[in-house]
Amino acid sequence: MPEFRKASRIDAIEVSEILQIGARAAELKQQGRPVIILGAGEPDFDTPDAIKQAAVDAIWAGETKYTALGGTTALKQAISAKFNRDHGLDYGLDEIIVSTGAKQVLYNAFMASLEPGDEVIVPAPYWTSYVDIIALAGGKPVLVPCEAETGFRMTPAQLQQALTPRTRWVLFNSPSNPSGAAYGAKNYAPLLQILLQHPDVWIMADDMYEHITYEGFDFATPAAVEPRLKSRCLTINGVSKAYAMTGWRIGYAGGPAALISAMAVIQGQSTSCASSVSQAAAVAALNGSQQILSERRSSFQARRDLVVDGLNALDGISCPRPEGAFYTFASCAGVLGRRTLGGEILETDADFCAYVLEQHDVAMVPGRAFGLSPYFRISYATSTAELREALARLARAVDQLR
Ligand code: PMP
Repeated sequence: MPEFRKASRIDAIEVSEILQIGARAAELKQQGRPVIILGAGEPDFDTPDAIKQAAVDAIWAGETKYTALGGTTALKQAISAKFNRDHGLDYGLDEIIVSTGAKQVLYNAFMASLEPGDEVIVPAPYWTSYVDIIALAGGKPVLVPCEAETGFRMTPAQLQQALTPRTRWVLFNSPSNPSGAAYGAKNYAPLLQILLQHPDVWIMADDMYEHITYEGFDFATPAAVEPRLKSRCLTINGVSKAYAMTGWRIGYAGGPAALISAMAVIQGQSTSCASSVSQAAAVAALNGSQQILSERRSSFQARRDLVVDGLNALDGISCPRPEGAFYTFASCAGVLGRRTLGGEILETDADFCAYVLEQHDVAMVPGRAFGLSPYFRISYATSTAELREALARLARAVDQLR
């Protein structure tokens, strides 16, 4: 049999640790173990009925054909109105692109802008796909470790130090997957001040978790915080997390027309356009009542507090209270060096997560997968009952260490 020869371009991409852990957890479940998986990157809620109905209506109205490459006019208008309503940002229809998820927006943007060796500043911990997409596009991720002590936010000094003549983009993700940390206008201001002095550097803001923030945290986005930078900002968002629509695959961005049309060239040779039916659903999500957002926010906030309080009660674990998203990123530094009942010494966050999964049936992802150790990520987008049980198991797991 002839052997398959894969392209060297994918050598830079590693099999995601998140997927590996998911596979191991599924295997244990298959064996009858009651594994609780705290790994999901999606809300456990269902898509609201009015949004589903809009999709059904679109199907029966015959909206079943290719749409314009960059999105339907109706959806681009809804996105333009959203940017205006939420941030006073003005984006014309030629400054907006609709893609198959925000992931494709990121892919389009990096493929359309990076030359080999161009640098992208990525604060760590980061969503794992960033570095893989940047690498696929031939760029070089420049990782900046942002510890719990600085709220998992990049400091002006760190940004200053990371900038080089090769820097093409600085990437912000607020609220962050995996840390849940967010930048308010005050956090952004000094960073953007520095970027005003670097006219060749562009700013990518991944605002996917915009609507999942707590206790009146005042969400901010760079293009609105510093309007002088809007002409080199790409403001990325989507309906996946806000409206529990991960499977519909609709993401979008606002940015300068030249960048948006370069991104459209890439999209034109991959997916052409996002699904027509999903675009109709996204119009209903953005134009409809936004009441659902605050209801879900308070439900997520109660779970956040349950998990953060539960984690901080454990000897050796410490967890900052995140401003948003549905993740906690806790330090396990205090348990490293301890021994399990079986006599193994836990040396890394990956050891800790493997121990908790293999011996206590809770699946979590080590900080290592997100470029910052020793931490572990919990997704609390699951029922309160399951979270309580998981915390009880974690308490037992930590208790048994010596
Ligand atoms: N950005 C971040 C930070 C994410 O966590 C995700 C989903 N995990 C995405 C972008 C992509 O979302 P989608 O492709 O579903 O729009």
